[in-house]
Amino acid sequence: MKAAALKGSRAMEIVELPDAAPAPGEVKLRVAYCGICGSDLHEYESAQPFRAMGMLQPVMGHEFSGRVIAVGDGVRGVAVGQIVAGNPGPGCGECAYCAAGRENLCRAGSLGGTGYTRPGAFAEYVTIAERAAVVLPEGADAREAALTEPFAVARHALIQGGYRPAELLVVAGAGPIGLLTVIAARAMGGTRIVVSEPLAGRRAAAERCGALRAVEPGEMINVSRALSEGNGAEISVDASGLPAGIASCVDATARGGRIVLAGVGEQPFPLDITRSIISELTYTAVLGYTRAEFIESAMLIAERRVDVSPVISEVVPVEATPDAFARLSEGRGELRKVLVSPDA
Ligand SMILES: [Zn+2]
Ligand SMILES: [Zn+2]
Repeated sequence: MKAAALKGSRAMEIVELPDAAPAPGEVKLRVAYCGICGSDLHEYESAQPFRAMGMLQPVMGHEFSGRVIAVGDGVRGVAVGQIVAGNPGPGCGECAYCAAGRENLCRAGSLGGTGYTRPGAFAEYVTIAERAAVVLPEGADAREAALTEPFAVARHALIQGGYRPAELLVVAGAGPIGLLTVIAARAMGGTRIVVSEPLAGRRAAAERCGALRAVEPGEMINVSRALSEGNGAEISVDASGLPAGIASCVDATARGGRIVLAGVGEQPFPLDITRSIISELTYTAVLGYTRAEFIESAMLIAERRVDVSPVISEVVPVEATPDAFARLSEGRGELRKVLVSPDA
């Protein structure tokens, strides 16, 4: 089968890999769609990618949907022909964290499963554990189902932050996670959502996703105060991972408010502790999603209770994966979520 493998810094190649039957307890999928994640891009742009050093699988791709084409011995809950959303981090199911329903913190570290320690879905086929396969209802759209994983990340951020729909919510950054945070907040019943984003095209996308306002970062303080009788937002989510994004959350958040850190930064940077103390801010750092949240997210999309289609900007065939990475790396502002599909 064809797959896109990362061979070095900014060096991705189409390779031919052997076709294997699924092992016991595993299911094999014909990949339908697989999204390119910001973390995939970081790895691609890294001077020393883990994939090229043999520390992780060279084939990335952890945001995927597919059709089941074979099941291994012992698989009971998944059948050939079904459409599934793949959970790349379903947890081992046995450690104390998994027993507590916090699979994102699994001792086995399996959040980085498919597309990390296991071959990913920028390929024609992918094999996953039965536990990782979320069977979707008949008629589910496989294209939108590929956004289940980042949508689950966005929902987990709001849930961990204790978001309540009456609150004023500030989202810093309108990349895919920021946009999906807006969609998730709307699905929870929220309407008072303001997004800060320097790029005009992304601001327009945020408004299409349901943001009340999308503004330049410099305007954020004034807009959030104007919408809250001068207080600021009760909760803000940083979906940028950039010092400027977090600073705009600090600026826009009310005294006693909460800041959720959902964007992964490249470098450590200083935080204004004094200001955080004076305003008694609560910071919550979030990682991934629980298995239950992943399943809920899959169903919200599959049953069309949310529309994630405004986040998708393009679908390309597997052969065009290296080109899509190169274009995203050059002008990531204008592209949103790019999906790779063997059938494109
Ligand atoms: Zn991702
Ligand atoms: Zn575990």
